[in-house]
Amino acid sequence: MNLAIPYHLENYIGGNFIAPLSGEFIDGINPATAEVFCQIPNSNARDIDVAVNAAKNAFESWSNTSAEQRFSILNKIADLIDANFETLALAETTDNGKPLWLSKQVDIKRSSDNFRFFATSIMHFASESHFTPDKNAINYTLRQPIGIVGCISPWNLPLYLFTWKIAPALAAGNCVIAKPSEVTPVTSFLLGKICKQAGLPDGVLNILHGDGINCGEAIVRHPAIKAISFTGSTKAGERIASIAAPMFKKLSLELGGKNPTLIFADCDLKKVLHEIIRSAFGNQGQICLCGSRILIEKPIYEEFKKHFVAITKNLTVGDPLIETSKQGAIVSKQHFEKIINCIQLAKQEGGTILCGGYAVKPKGRCANGYFIQPTIIEGLNQQCKTNQEEIFGPVVTIQPFDTMDEAIEMANSTSYGLAASVWTQDISKANQLAIKLQTGIVWVNCWLVRDLRTPFGGVKNSGVGREGGWDALKFFTEQKNVCVQY
Ligand code: NAD
Repeated sequence: MNLAIPYHLENYIGGNFIAPLSGEFIDGINPATAEVFCQIPNSNARDIDVAVNAAKNAFESWSNTSAEQRFSILNKIADLIDANFETLALAETTDNGKPLWLSKQVDIKRSSDNFRFFATSIMHFASESHFTPDKNAINYTLRQPIGIVGCISPWNLPLYLFTWKIAPALAAGNCVIAKPSEVTPVTSFLLGKICKQAGLPDGVLNILHGDGINCGEAIVRHPAIKAISFTGSTKAGERIASIAAPMFKKLSLELGGKNPTLIFADCDLKKVLHEIIRSAFGNQGQICLCGSRILIEKPIYEEFKKHFVAITKNLTVGDPLIETSKQGAIVSKQHFEKIINCIQLAKQEGGTILCGGYAVKPKGRCANGYFIQPTIIEGLNQQCKTNQEEIFGPVVTIQPFDTMDEAIEMANSTSYGLAASVWTQDISKANQLAIKLQTGIVWVNCWLVRDLRTPFGGVKNSGVGREGGWDALKFFTEQKNVCVQY
């Protein structure tokens, strides 16, 4: 199969690759060069209707396949992702701007892992029974596929997060209407080709392209789509919830974050410095889990600052295709401008820029791309906008604290609650912190160490529900209790 980067993307509906009914397309831009490199269907409610009909036709048969059959097809999809590894990695980097080495190490590898993980999970998925002898009854609980479900994903980890939703939805026996971000749709389009080749029956997975308002909202509004799994901004999540809740749809919302990193004086500073560079600036700071507020216990504040700034200044920002570029491009012009404005705001709020704070213009083919030097800011209080609102770029603040209670108060002081990381050699302190931090995820002496079986998600404005492991399969199934009296 030739998966060279296409210039004209199509919707994947009922097993066919077709243009949107409107005939309209959106420009797809390579953020490293600012050049248009593909055309993306601008789909709307009419295309969603066609896809829902295709899914309805496929559901009866797909929902009655055995777990072994689904395991086999999903595993085949994983194998084909691996077989097209280089092409997919290059497509992801061209679309998103992230370094090619990162697309290979993280994004594409994790995408096939997602399919393999849920292919195996469905073979072990079981439901409960309850024996009620005083009433001569046995209860057993069926877990049946929901029907047609909607999966909507963001641009920061395009294929990785798209497959994280689609794989469990398909494994559980649902038919899926899926929409990747219009900013980074190419690998999702290629996934359609792979699914076709893997023998996934037509109509079981439908991949539609378009923006949030016309295409995304049409998925959320469609009465035949019974559950929505969404990853993206808190603002869009709020809008989606306002539409889906009165329709009583099942909702899983993975939203924004403003994650604290808590560094105590008794930490292993060498390890911290190595990992903090990753947690602060990985993927240009565009990971929902990135630690953007770094809180440091006073006795080591100056030492930490000296080393952290020195290492950050040395991070090479440049052409994502060059192996030595530690940082690639910001995903789009719009997002680049938002981050630059956030840096300006931090200055107005009284922040001191310790390093970075400016756009980078690499020489050569990337001269017009959207690059920002990793930025560290100090001198801001916890209540300012810079420390309260998600920036989602290579920008972090550092703040000193005196006591553990003060650190907890600072960490919990935003409306978000996705993840926190804690750095201390005192395991008792670490456990107390884990209990008191208002987040869905706490890492102790590590960051983004993932096990796909664990519950993933946030509290407060970071979301509703959990993805991963059994939680994902439970979300994508409906329980029905059957009570039999003997
Ligand atoms: P976004 O909310 O703008 O878009 C996400 C997806 O939703 C896109 O496909 C978009 O087209 C669609 N969309 C937008 N408005 C919609 C609407 N009204 N109805 C239906 N669909 C709509 O987010 P983004 O800018 O693509 O991604 C960045 C955000 O995602 C950040 O806030 C980040 O923290 C968050 N994120 C969260 C997680 C997590 O697991 N919690 C993971 C990755 C990213």
